Amino acid sequence: MFQEKEQFMTKEEIRALQLERIRRQVKHAYENVAFYRRKFDEAGLKPEDIRTLDDVSRIPFTVKDDLRDHYPYGILAVPIGTVNRLHASSGTTGIPTVVSYTEKDLNTWSNLMARCYSCAGVTPDDIVQNAYGYGLFTGGLGFHMGAERLRTLVIPTATGNTKRQISMMKDMKSTVLCCTPSYALYLIEALKEEGVDPSELSLRIGMFGAEPWSDETRKHIEKSLGIKAQDLYGMSELYGPGVAVECPQQNGLHVWSDEFYVETIDPDTEEVLPPGEKGEIVFTMLSREAMPLLRYRTKDLAVINWDRCACGRSHPRIMRIKGRSDDMLIVGGVNVFPSQIEDILVSIPELGEQFQIVLETAKLDHLFVQVEVAPEFWGKADLKQLAEKVGDRLQASLTLRARIELLEPGTIPRTQGKAKRVIDNRKKI
Ligand code: ADP
Ligand code: ZN
Repeated sequence: MFQEKEQFMTKEEIRALQLERIRRQVKHAYENVAFYRRKFDEAGLKPEDIRTLDDVSRIPFTVKDDLRDHYPYGILAVPIGTVNRLHASSGTTGIPTVVSYTEKDLNTWSNLMARCYSCAGVTPDDIVQNAYGYGLFTGGLGFHMGAERLRTLVIPTATGNTKRQISMMKDMKSTVLCCTPSYALYLIEALKEEGVDPSELSLRIGMFGAEPWSDETRKHIEKSLGIKAQDLYGMSELYGPGVAVECPQQNGLHVWSDEFYVETIDPDTEEVLPPGEKGEIVFTMLSREAMPLLRYRTKDLAVINWDRCACGRSHPRIMRIKGRSDDMLIVGGVNVFPSQIEDILVSIPELGEQFQIVLETAKLDHLFVQVEVAPEFWGKADLKQLAEKVGDRLQASLTLRARIELLEPGTIPRTQGKAKRVIDNRKKI
């Protein structure tokens, strides 16, 4: 197993290492980044004040806007000549966030990703097909470096050209597929269209992440491809993919907490929550050189479980990310996450996996959901009755009435990367 010692550290070992590293990181950030020095000074805090892990809650938060405010070179703590690479987030919501890495950072990241593969059951004998996007997005290179570090054969197919993706998978006998869950769903459809039976393939494990997906979707992917579908979490600000991954228990994602100190906070009051309570995940990076991040607010909402896992690992688990605080819709006063809707839709056999939520009016007083009918039911199911059934199911669990439009299979645009579940047609004023 790759970095077995790190994977199986005890809680006490983790805690001790965290304290040592956090103290060093705080000093590094304070001494080398004007932004952190100012924040600490404003809070009347000195690096020496962080004596125990309980003191971490005194450190001011860092948010995405802080990174944007420091565009283009981010919160650099080393001279630019020491920086080896940079990545950037998509920037769909404004100025892109740029993240930078020293050689040591790239090394740490590679190790973390190799650990993720290993924890999920991948070995050097596997053949990894990496269909994440290569480029500024951290997915492609992150999965690539991790596979190389594990000494696994990696095929950098990247996104796109689904036909070639399938022929590569067949010819090269790929055993591990890396892509977004949305793309995995699309591949399942494409395999059908190409007349390729998944039993002709050699796939055994999928490493799926970068977006929320439900347990029902997991079941569907596992059944259709005959694989174990493992969830993996990360974000560009925290190196990229490789922050947390599922072990074969598939009961939460282990956060590599010798590298990431994780907390959950109440997003409104910013109070630290006890383990087991759902809140916004906050990470402190424990050895990042180029761009130290202290108490970074992710906006991702989840529960952290510190109980030792049945796999024997003590790294705390993120119990499946349900969504981001900024994805939450408030419909007629009820909070709804697209993932909750996904859960319900995927459990209805007459429906396909593709859906979207359409926002039409400024005041959200009802939900409008478009969902595809499963190909085998198209032209057979009574659409009116089916729409009613879908509406009833959503109402039963969300206490909301939704307008449902059933679409012909293939109508909703497929994605190579992350799915876009919410379509905003409201007039921008
Ligand atoms: P960008 O910001 O450009 O979209 P990132 O890849 O950095 O690129 O996006 C990170 C975000 O993706 C996370 O904050 C989280 O919301 C989401 N994400 C990543 N992995 C998962 C996962 N396994 N489950 C749920 N959400 C995820
Ligand atoms: Zn485990």
